[in-house]
Amino acid sequence: MKTVVALGGDGIGPEVVDAACYVLENMGVDLEIVKPPCGEKALKEYGTPFPKETMELTNSADAVLFGASGEASVIILAYLRWFFDTYANVRPVKYYEGVLTSIKNPEGVDFVIIRENTEDFYPGREGDISLLAERMPDYKDILGRRFADYGEGKFAVGLYTVKGCRRIAEFACKEALKRKRKGFPGKVTCVTKSNVLRETGGLFQRMVEEEVRRHPELTYEHFYVDDMARRIVRFPREMDVIVTTNMFGDILSDLAAELMGGLGMAPSACIGDKHAYFEPVHGSAPDITGKGIANPTATILSCVMMLEYLGMEKDAGKLEKAVAEVYRKGETLTPDMGGTAKTMEVAEAILRELM
Ligand code: ATP
Repeated sequence: MKTVVALGGDGIGPEVVDAACYVLENMGVDLEIVKPPCGEKALKEYGTPFPKETMELTNSADAVLFGASGEASVIILAYLRWFFDTYANVRPVKYYEGVLTSIKNPEGVDFVIIRENTEDFYPGREGDISLLAERMPDYKDILGRRFADYGEGKFAVGLYTVKGCRRIAEFACKEALKRKRKGFPGKVTCVTKSNVLRETGGLFQRMVEEEVRRHPELTYEHFYVDDMARRIVRFPREMDVIVTTNMFGDILSDLAAELMGGLGMAPSACIGDKHAYFEPVHGSAPDITGKGIANPTATILSCVMMLEYLGMEKDAGKLEKAVAEVYRKGETLTPDMGGTAKTMEVAEAILRELM
């Protein structure tokens, strides 16, 4: 039997993870779900948000379900991302009938953003400009200026490795091939700012292009990130698989989430070669924490992705269908969807559809 470790984290994280676990535990899937202490609650009780026993259970799990990170659980998120090397952040953007969205005609919106998850400006590498001036006195930028010419201020460094670009390019192509087999166009859209960031954006773009060329059944296009933000809103049905760098992916996926009803709906998976964790796109939402009104759908759809990853496609399909049915009926909706239902009521409604 596969084991899933559920880590609620902070803010609304434990509320939505509890709701998702309630569905998983009662729908009859062959999974062992373990809920060790973590996050704000563990910090109060054990003096650490990520006790050693929790970490050990996390290490040996087949998959991790994560809620949200506020201040306390940043360390857990960093662990799941960098120690587990979960380099591919998969963020599907799929409209379900009945969902309240920010566009007039959301029908047929169904694409996926593949965001590189470990490089770029993450984790933050920053410092005083004076440090660069001291260490790289002869470096000149495109304007012919040295760091010392800029005076007091800060810098941030973005890193893009050949290995990092190659593996996310391969992941995106595999995803496009998988989707093509299901009837999607088989198109990879690469997003960079290579007109300004010629070396870094250029490397990412070149690596994606090279990888797509290995698969003649796939088509390819490239857009600059500013143009892409506009295109996602204007032509959402033309998207299939979008692949981009870490920060651009973070921003574009929040924007794209609005096409499917906002953060309460948007799921994600973070996948590496050995580990994977699944979490809603949203954060800890301090403004609604403790009110019992957080929409658990993003987390439950993340469970759909988790079941697929664990090879339980049939259960995944059933769960997704149940979610779709709840929205089609439109009777049990949280406030972000225009209703008055509580978090657990949505979970119960989804479970009823599964029975
Ligand atoms: P963080 O700093 O942890 O990212 P945040 O408040 O800046 O927290 P989010 O947690 O993503 O960012 O929340 C952004 C907005 O979306 C908030 O108004 C929040 O209430 C809303 N929101 C986020 N998740 C949900 C959810 N599951 N259900 C309903 N509203 C949500």
